Amino acid sequence: MKNIIFIAPHGTGKGTQCDLITKEFGFKHLSTGDLIRKAIKKQDAFAKELEETINSGKLVSDDIVLKMIKDYLEENKNAQGIIFDGYPRTLNQAYALDELMANIKETINVVFYLDITKEEALKRTLGRLICANCQKSYNKFYEGLKPKQEGICDVCGGALTARGDDTEEAFNNLFDVFMEQTLPILDYYQNKNILEKIDASKTQEEMFQKINEKIKEA
Ligand code: AMP
Repeated sequence: MKNIIFIAPHGTGKGTQCDLITKEFGFKHLSTGDLIRKAIKKQDAFAKELEETINSGKLVSDDIVLKMIKDYLEENKNAQGIIFDGYPRTLNQAYALDELMANIKETINVVFYLDITKEEALKRTLGRLICANCQKSYNKFYEGLKPKQEGICDVCGGALTARGDDTEEAFNNLFDVFMEQTLPILDYYQNKNILEKIDASKTQEEMFQKINEKIKEA
């Protein structure tokens, strides 16, 4: 099994890279953000609390996220590879993941850090639109990423909406959290010699070419 981690600030486009890897290598895409959004759809009291946390740009508690990861790994124990998207976000989560992987006799093969300026990440965040029906992602600020018809999904005709946490206020909170809590993880993986820095100002195709090569080498 090959295990990959993606680390990037909010709005970088890591979800798109994860989709491309899934198609190319058949790996499973473990997005903690998606698992949390799925839990929110249940609309119980717990869901309301989760929604308030993520829409204000704060992190969900470690215990909740770790339980989601454990359940996902258990359900996908025969996968050819796992892409960890959005986990770990703190050093404590990185330690917890190492322990979890050791327990199931697995290791992390490669960690991709998508490097981007704050200005560019904000622009991508504020332009992002998601199809409410099929989840395809668009961006109203970039040619080639705009839908053909404003507000309508090219693939299924569903309505395009902005995510609740794609606001400037949530972005600023998330960017501060990223700088304070997530950046220290880079040194941790650098010391293990498994960190790959990717220039996220490049196009999605150019980024994927480099990522693809590194996964094959890992
Ligand atoms: P994402 O889709 O990765 O941008 O995640 C959306 C939101 O879910 C984040 O802004 C956090 O509030 C929450 N979240 C996702 N992953 C984690 C994590 N590893 N730890 C804590 N909160 C998380």
